[in-house]
Amino acid sequence: MVTHVSQGNRSLSQGLGSLGDFFPNKEIRCRVRGCDNSWHMAADDLLRQLTSQDPELPERMCESCYETYNTLSAQDVPCSRAGCTHTWHWTRYQQLEARVAGHTTPPRRFCAECSHEMAAIADRQMPCRARGCSKTWVWTRQQQMTWDGDRPPTRLCPDCFDKLRSLQDRQEPCKARGCKNTWSWPAFQQLEYHLAGGDLDKPPRRLCHTCFEALQTLHDLELPCKVKECQRTWRFTTFAQLEHRLAAGGEATPPPPERMCPECFRFFQQAQDVARPCRNRRCPNTWTYTRGWQLKDWLKGRTAPPQLMCAACTEKLAQLHERPMPCSVPGCQETWPYTPMDQLHDALAGGREPRPRRCRACDEFLTSHRAETLTCPECGQLIRWSGFEQLLCARGTFVKPTRCSDCAAKDLPTQPPKAPPTLDHHLIVRMPVNGRWNADAAIAGWPPHLDHDSLARAERADIRIVALGDDLTWSTEKKEESWPHLLEEKLNADLADEALAVAVINAGIAGTTSRQAMIRLHRDLTPFTPHLVIVSFILGDSFIEPGGPALRERLPAEDAERAIRDLLTHLRRTRAQILHWTANPAFPYDHAAEKRLPREWADRQALRLSQALTYTAHLCTQRDIPTVDFRSRFEVNGKASAQKWMSDWCRHNAAGARNIAVWMAGHLVAEKLLPGLG
Ligand SMILES: [Zn+2]
Ligand SMILES: [Zn+2]
Ligand SMILES: [Zn+2]
Ligand SMILES: [Zn+2]
Ligand SMILES: [Zn+2]
Ligand SMILES: [Zn+2]
Ligand SMILES: [Zn+2]
Ligand SMILES: [Zn+2]
Repeated sequence: MVTHVSQGNRSLSQGLGSLGDFFPNKEIRCRVRGCDNSWHMAADDLLRQLTSQDPELPERMCESCYETYNTLSAQDVPCSRAGCTHTWHWTRYQQLEARVAGHTTPPRRFCAECSHEMAAIADRQMPCRARGCSKTWVWTRQQQMTWDGDRPPTRLCPDCFDKLRSLQDRQEPCKARGCKNTWSWPAFQQLEYHLAGGDLDKPPRRLCHTCFEALQTLHDLELPCKVKECQRTWRFTTFAQLEHRLAAGGEATPPPPERMCPECFRFFQQAQDVARPCRNRRCPNTWTYTRGWQLKDWLKGRTAPPQLMCAACTEKLAQLHERPMPCSVPGCQETWPYTPMDQLHDALAGGREPRPRRCRACDEFLTSHRAETLTCPECGQLIRWSGFEQLLCARGTFVKPTRCSDCAAKDLPTQPPKAPPTLDHHLIVRMPVNGRWNADAAIAGWPPHLDHDSLARAERADIRIVALGDDLTWSTEKKEESWPHLLEEKLNADLADEALAVAVINAGIAGTTSRQAMIRLHRDLTPFTPHLVIVSFILGDSFIEPGGPALRERLPAEDAERAIRDLLTHLRRTRAQILHWTANPAFPYDHAAEKRLPREWADRQALRLSQALTYTAHLCTQRDIPTVDFRSRFEVNGKASAQKWMSDWCRHNAAGARNIAVWMAGHLVAEKLLPGLG
């Protein structure tokens, strides 16, 4: 750069004073950038300038700048690029400008080579170092030239930089309930949280350092379900343990809490207390089948709720006492016990009088004495001498007939009439209230299809049949559709000509076994003094609850054979005829496939069923108990047709129950298993 500065022409111009009259003097600004001073241009200089070839006004320094300028000398300054040994030339004038701007040290600048090199590169857009930010910052050429790192620097984009400056490190509460400590949330993490879409007013939930350390020392625990009947477990997570410990004051490990397994909890949450009608049909009250109780029944594999009395009935029953009542048989001095339960029923029925009943001795007499046929010695006519007439004879109020009524009428036309035939060997049924069955909720209630109507019909009947069994004897939800009920209807229709009334008592309880049958025999069978007992526990004894983590057997395999042996042995010792029937077929494999149950269950269930069929057949043969097989009749047209008669994998439906009733009636008649026939 060339400067036109020459202080000499100032004095020269002052010599041309006369022309100055025409041209005023002019103040011109100092040419040094940043300097606000001016210098004085004399009028004659100005004139000369105007007349010269160059019409531009001269550029000059102010006096002050000029003085400074004279004190300076050019310098060679080292290149500011790291590692470069070259220099650049800092001229006096550049130094002057720097001084005017207030700098005395040389600026950072590159040598000529480095400047040349820099001209070849461009500014770079660099990604913001904050995770989640897609913006960039500019890495200038100069910055690139002076950078001596191996890798490019990482920096925030301008937006992030501003955001970060607005943030401060924060202390946030520990997420563990009961902990008073905090964890620190650095501003930079807040920035990234913000970039990830987080709301800074809703900080993340974290553990304090103490809690975090404590958590490392813990392990998840599998603890037993608090429901005693349940075999499952629940998971006590490390975090739950931590909070549990904090709740206990953070001291030594407290005993673990008692909780339900997830399955029990879900059942309990979904279940609701249910008001169930009082078992006494005439009572309008209810009792509460609680959720907890339902859960326990569910765990035991019980599907039907128990049949219980309301609180009022239970209380009333406790206040009643057994009362001896005179036997209804003329001439008998014995009594029968009027049980509290019967008293309660009669009270509920509007305070009716107890029905006349016979004492036990009279009942036993009737059971052991069937009607006899005598021949009139005079005319050869057959005389029917009923069991009841025999009883009246034994009690001294009736004389054994020696002649037929026709022959007797010849001698004694005014003979008094015999006892009314409708009373013929009628039984009074008394089901005991107290017994070991009360200790087992599954059998504490009467068999569901056995009610006071059944008792009344049994008392009137000539032939009493007790069907003793499990789900398959209980048969169907509606009593009217169950096979024992249909069997009774069918036999009464078939035997109408014989003038014999038949009662079939359904002593089946779903979900029970032969072992439980032994306990309830004294209530559900003995009082009926049956002529025939139809028994089956093939399904009940071998039943395994489908689903659930463990195989839940209703009766352990090792106990099953003994249970049915004891029952059959006991039944064989009664006076009744016994008939064993096989259950309807069951299809565990189809059920397992449909419900995705473990193959293990189907295998085990199929095995238990086939074992039960085998050993029960053997036990019956040993005891001379006939067996009738309905399985093959179900499957006579193949499995598909059998399944039309099934309501699920093991229970028959109403159509199946109709078949069983018809087959059973046919079998009883054909095999002469009913007393008083053929
Ligand atoms: Zn100046
Ligand atoms: Zn350089
Ligand atoms: Zn950014
Ligand atoms: Zn904490
Ligand atoms: Zn459980
Ligand atoms: Zn009641
Ligand atoms: Zn009596
Ligand atoms: Zn006669």
